[in-house]
Amino acid sequence: MDGFVHQGQITKVVFGSGTRLRIGQEVAALGCGRAVVLSTPGQAAQAAAVQETLGGMAAGAFAEAAMHTPLHVTRRALRFVAAQQSDCLVSVGGGSAIGLGKAVSLRTGLPHIALPTTYAGSEMSPILGETDGERKTTRRLPEVRLRTVVYDVDLTVTLPPAMAAASGLNALAHAVEALYSQDGDPLAFLMAGEALTALTTHLPGVVERPDDIGARSGALYGAWLSGACLGTVGMALHHKICHVLGGMFALPHAETHAVVLPHVVAFNAPSAPRAMARIGTALSAADPATGLYEFTGRLGVPRSLRELGMPESGIAAAADRVLENAYWNPRPVDRRAATGILTRAWRGAAPTE
Ligand code: NAD
Repeated sequence: MDGFVHQGQITKVVFGSGTRLRIGQEVAALGCGRAVVLSTPGQAAQAAAVQETLGGMAAGAFAEAAMHTPLHVTRRALRFVAAQQSDCLVSVGGGSAIGLGKAVSLRTGLPHIALPTTYAGSEMSPILGETDGERKTTRRLPEVRLRTVVYDVDLTVTLPPAMAAASGLNALAHAVEALYSQDGDPLAFLMAGEALTALTTHLPGVVERPDDIGARSGALYGAWLSGACLGTVGMALHHKICHVLGGMFALPHAETHAVVLPHVVAFNAPSAPRAMARIGTALSAADPATGLYEFTGRLGVPRSLRELGMPESGIAAAADRVLENAYWNPRPVDRRAATGILTRAWRGAAPTE
């Protein structure tokens, strides 16, 4: 066994069905009693239901969370939280609501509990992405780690199949890049492999039978593990490309991950044989990149950046940005490689090295 460093998690995780009903218990366990519930406008009803469950421990709801955590929303939330004399934050939703919870927690020191409703995995990571006007910054800050995450599969049943599929592939991308991470460790590798197996087994069921609670539960389990990977080890080229594309062209977050992943896997394949073997096993595919591309097709998720609204004329500038402050990657990336990956992803072509 080679030497390694493993960073443990401090977040308490509760997983199951109906677990949202113990949210009051979890707030009390942190010594708190005045929780502000955070959500996007689209999930205000789910936030209201959580408020109702909290009863006297609810100090109000702020339902203005938005994609990429805009600073002007955070400032409004900070005023609301202060006015309510809140002592903790409960975010209900996907990466947008949880991102707002992290941004407020960072600036107030208030403990943060999440009830995740997508597979994006932000709840398990110390990563905070924020936007100020056009500018997006992403930081790894240990102090934004959540205290408690309550996974309740019942909250994910309303996630429409197309969004669930894209979100599941976003989770899959965290697991894939954890397998070949520069600071990978044995536990992260095991979690990533198990995440791949859970997601590839259960996502088709979520799409084909949206009410299948077993499939929803298996996918959420995979998403937890993928999020834990994201929160434990560093990501590589795939995440850098998605970050660049999201920032430059305001492309939808989860779908961008879904499109790009097979192309980065094809590129990295020669330099990450152990990771490729594990991906191939999960997908029962001889070639992991082709297996992922076919899996994406089976889930009915868009397979080209063109469909997501990226202009073809943006490929060259995006390739330049990918090379600026490049993330570590198992295979060195040059301009030709970045352009090739982006061009194939833009067209939705089959992945090749
Ligand atoms: P999201 O939170 O923006 O949700 C997308 C839409 O789906 C929203 O309108 C939301 O209200 C709705 N929705 C979510 N769950 C639902 C459900 N169960 N039923 C019905 N509607 C539901 O999407 P996301 O993909 O989870 O998060 C994307 C954001 O999170 C991006 O800003 C991304 O940068 C960030 N993110 C951050 C990290 C991190 O570690 N910091 C990780 C992943 C994503």
